[in-house]
Amino acid sequence: MDRLQQDNLFPHRHLLGIADLSASEIGFLLDVSDSYIDVNRGPNKKQTKLRGQTVINLFFENSTRTRTSFELAGKRLSADVINMSVATSSIKKGETMVDTSMTLNAMHPDVLVVRHPDSGAVKLLSEKINGAVINAGDGSHEHPTQALLDALTVRRRRGRIQGLIVAICGDVLHSRVARSNIHLLNKMGAQVRLVAPPTLLPTNVERLGVEVFHDMRTGLMDCDIVMMLRLQTERMRGTFVPSTREYFHFFGLDSDKLAVAKPDALVMHPGPMNRGVEIDSVLADDITHSAILDQVEFGVAVRMACLDVLTNNLRADATGMVS
Ligand code: ASP
Repeated sequence: MDRLQQDNLFPHRHLLGIADLSASEIGFLLDVSDSYIDVNRGPNKKQTKLRGQTVINLFFENSTRTRTSFELAGKRLSADVINMSVATSSIKKGETMVDTSMTLNAMHPDVLVVRHPDSGAVKLLSEKINGAVINAGDGSHEHPTQALLDALTVRRRRGRIQGLIVAICGDVLHSRVARSNIHLLNKMGAQVRLVAPPTLLPTNVERLGVEVFHDMRTGLMDCDIVMMLRLQTERMRGTFVPSTREYFHFFGLDSDKLAVAKPDALVMHPGPMNRGVEIDSVLADDITHSAILDQVEFGVAVRMACLDVLTNNLRADATGMVS
């Protein structure tokens, strides 16, 4: 891809959220990601696009899939990758997030991948950084690479996103995955339903362009895709469901509830899964419906694409074409 051509297709320095992107910019990232799926499945996974560049993963919150896949993505593109977790950093000695970021910035990283428990913290930090910043999840606000890998999974398994009926079920209130997916799916022409108890939905959520259901059997009727969400107890202040047992009874996905969706409906989950709470264990492993391991696989490709596109933009920055 010609560099100036790319700048027109994705004119952003950072990737902070899906809300900031247009449908064609999302489509462009998905196309680049798609090409990396084949690289990752081939015998030679090592590319040289990021040779000489430094990626720092700065995680103020726990992570398995996102941190590992960003590390693998950076390494497959030949970047030097440093992983910093708060448990071993000077944050524990009282340093502020901004001071930590400024310290890292002084070492000239090209890309900082940041996860933080506070909504908006990654944007704040991006204003202090010379390189590119990728939001790896900020509070309950956005998790853009998760929505991109979900979209890539849907596109690969269904051939399109436009016109599909997608139900996002469970703890929408605390979920950055739900927010990023609502933005992305609406922009790409899907029909989005939310299925959750009233206590786990944000107020005025209909304003986001979704249909709301409080019953799984009506919410899942004729759906093409069912996305399940974890009860994010770490973000809960107080009690939101009477008990996990009762929650599973009404809102846990099992084959009975899935039976009202399209016969070939896909089941997705961003992980980590709580089997027997939001999803039945047998269904989670049923490869005729479950796309959960595809999501993990495509996560590496999406993160390679984001690193590739943003570092290309950094190199083109001198032309003043990147916002
Ligand atoms: N891994 C996703 C996130 O970081 C979903 C979850 O934690 O439930 O938001």
